[in-house]
Amino acid sequence: MTTDTPNTAPPALVPGEDAVFLDFDGTLVEIAPRPDAVHVPDGLAEVLMDLHALCGGALALVSGRAMGELAAFLPRFTGPLIGSHGAESRGLDLPGAGHAVDLAALHARFVEFANANDLLAEAKPHGAAIHFRSRPEAEALARAFAEEMIALHPGLTLQPAKMAFELRPAGATKDAALRQLADAVPFAGRRPVYLGDDTTDEPALIWAQERGGMGVKVGEGASAARWRLSGPQAVRAWLTAATET
Ligand SMILES: [Mg+2]
Repeated sequence: MTTDTPNTAPPALVPGEDAVFLDFDGTLVEIAPRPDAVHVPDGLAEVLMDLHALCGGALALVSGRAMGELAAFLPRFTGPLIGSHGAESRGLDLPGAGHAVDLAALHARFVEFANANDLLAEAKPHGAAIHFRSRPEAEALARAFAEEMIALHPGLTLQPAKMAFELRPAGATKDAALRQLADAVPFAGRRPVYLGDDTTDEPALIWAQERGGMGVKVGEGASAARWRLSGPQAVRAWLTAATET
């Protein structure tokens, strides 16, 4: 259930007891006009590595982005990554997703549609996205296109995101990936803490709270999370504080 989250900052992390799961865009870094234009602040990878060590390895990044992109933004972070909503991972025992879809043809259709409508297409290793941030008035047009593509590709499902519609493998969700990981080393026996800013994060926020952990909504908007941080800068300060005690 989505409710109005109070503007209450979460209590401090307890690295000895917590398993920390962090979304990337809009949570650790500010959303950029284009997905490839994200600015990664100096020192972010170092804070994540410090916290990863303090948590006994129980810290993972969980993103809808392709894992390779995520890794390229944070070359000095060598901890676990979950990409493509759980369809890809690094350093974790996740089964991943199949390739039943003709991705080259799908990507070509997205590029064609984006070029014809002054929008941005994003090719993903397991799907594709159409971004309308540059033309918010094109939301309905973009949605209609995404729904048309879903009808043609039954293995994919529609994932609305911030100013974008994404097609992802039907089985891949962040919370499903976390459910598979939670009872495995190094996460088992720890209290899950999840931070995210988008609709794709809501099931994972709820999951963390159902397991006795913390769900932290980042930024504005309704959420089922009990806690809130105002934006990526506040998130980075909160994470940094946990490395300094
Ligand atoms: Mg995000």
